[in-house]
Amino acid sequence: MAFPPHSVPRDLATLPHVVIIGGGFAGVAAAKGLADQDVRVTIIDQHNFHTFVPLLYQVATAGLEPADVAFPIRTIFGHAANVGFRHGRVRSVDQSRGLVTLADGSGIPYDHLVIATGAAAAFFGVPGASQFAMPLYTLADARRLRNRLLSILEEAEVASEGDASSDLTFVVVGGGPTGVETSGALSELIAIAIRRDGLRLDPARIRVLLVDMAPRLLTAFPTRASVYAKRRLESSGVEVEFGRSVVGIDKHAIRFSDGERIECAAVIWAAGVSAGDALPQDLTATSGPGGRVRVRSDLRLLDSENVWAVGDAAAVPLDDKQFCAQLAPVAIQSGRHCAEQILHVVRGEATQAFRYHDKGIMATIGRNAAVAELPNGVVVKGRLGWLAWLGLHLWYLVGFRNRLRVLINWTWRYFDWPSGPRLIVADAETVD
Ligand SMILES: Cc1cc2nc3c(=O)[nH]c(=O)nc-3n(C[C@H](O)[C@H](O)[C@H](O)COP(=O)(O)OP(=O)(O)OC[C@H]3O[C@@H](n4cnc5c(N)ncnc54)[C@H](O)[C@@H]3O)c2cc1C
Repeated sequence: MAFPPHSVPRDLATLPHVVIIGGGFAGVAAAKGLADQDVRVTIIDQHNFHTFVPLLYQVATAGLEPADVAFPIRTIFGHAANVGFRHGRVRSVDQSRGLVTLADGSGIPYDHLVIATGAAAAFFGVPGASQFAMPLYTLADARRLRNRLLSILEEAEVASEGDASSDLTFVVVGGGPTGVETSGALSELIAIAIRRDGLRLDPARIRVLLVDMAPRLLTAFPTRASVYAKRRLESSGVEVEFGRSVVGIDKHAIRFSDGERIECAAVIWAAGVSAGDALPQDLTATSGPGGRVRVRSDLRLLDSENVWAVGDAAAVPLDDKQFCAQLAPVAIQSGRHCAEQILHVVRGEATQAFRYHDKGIMATIGRNAAVAELPNGVVVKGRLGWLAWLGLHLWYLVGFRNRLRVLINWTWRYFDWPSGPRLIVADAETVD
């Protein structure tokens, strides 16, 4: 039976209402834990799809299609009668009235509120960064970046006719997993565009430069993983420079604290995230590291009985002194834990403390190469690490159709690597 829009079936209307802001890893895990339980759930997201963020760089570098890494939130919960979805951006939260207000002015009351808003790119006040550098946090970012990268290559071919000596530089800022994965894939994209698509550019005059302030790549990994990542990136043509602090970016160049200015066609920003910028207005919460919301051990806000925070938005405790990293497994586990605790509260039971089960960390460096650190500290590199990376990402992708499509795409490209959706999906004059 279909219900009219915004109406709630009568038997559900009497149940406690849990509103979840954000349909990312954390919000979806929380909603899954509450599906078919004695609560009514509304997920609110500004996008009508869940994004598999770890694969965005493949969309940006024309390895995967946008639809391969996104899945409609309604479809995930189509079977669960007590879970609904509202497409919209939450503007503010009024904790005293238990009310969430959307950008269109409509209000949604809650009994329990779950903040699962993730994080946004942090530009650390670097002049010009938010205006001219390209972040990679949403599907729209990834599509924009792909359009821009491919357009730059097209423009470069036109510009280089008659001037075969012109240089083309791409700068990637940030040597964490996102910067490493993106610079490796970008270098491969350029090689393919020249070899396979007949782009008339001199590869020797194209630079992909990865810069970081830190003295090594992948600082969350053991040093030997960093050394391996650097060697692999350099062998695929990426230049890596450490101790470089960016002090300004404009339309045509990036400037460093030592005074050097490098002319470049694009700056890709992978330097970090801030949770504070993604939080709704008027949320009364104690701010923790990276703008993350401080929570108690059961994941409730410090001064609240019915507002919870999970995933990247929250400073999820690892132990008495440390917080968990902003990673997908933390988001999934904290979302799941939060759902269990809400059910405890609704049933009048005591809540329990969150415990993180470390699943290890991994990053790809290019085709056939990845590094993974297992929970026991063992580092897996090379093809084995890459296969582990492929398997895990397939496992966590939402939706059987997406898994199958990505598996087919990856298998196809393993044997015919240069095939890939190198499409500029925008009218020529609208690509910024
Ligand atoms: C490029 C990149 C690569 C990464 N690679 C890895 C990796 O390989 N492995 C790993 O473990 N982690 C990786 N991470 C980190 C991982 O993606 C995050 O830890 C994870 O996505 C956090 O999940 P979340 O649900 O808290 O937030 P998100 O996944 O960011 O979801 C937040 C959701 O909230 C919605 N939202 C935000 N504000 C509002 C609002 N006001 N109103 C309505 N909706 C709102 C957003 O639209 C979004 O859907 C990567 C991150 C990035 C950026």
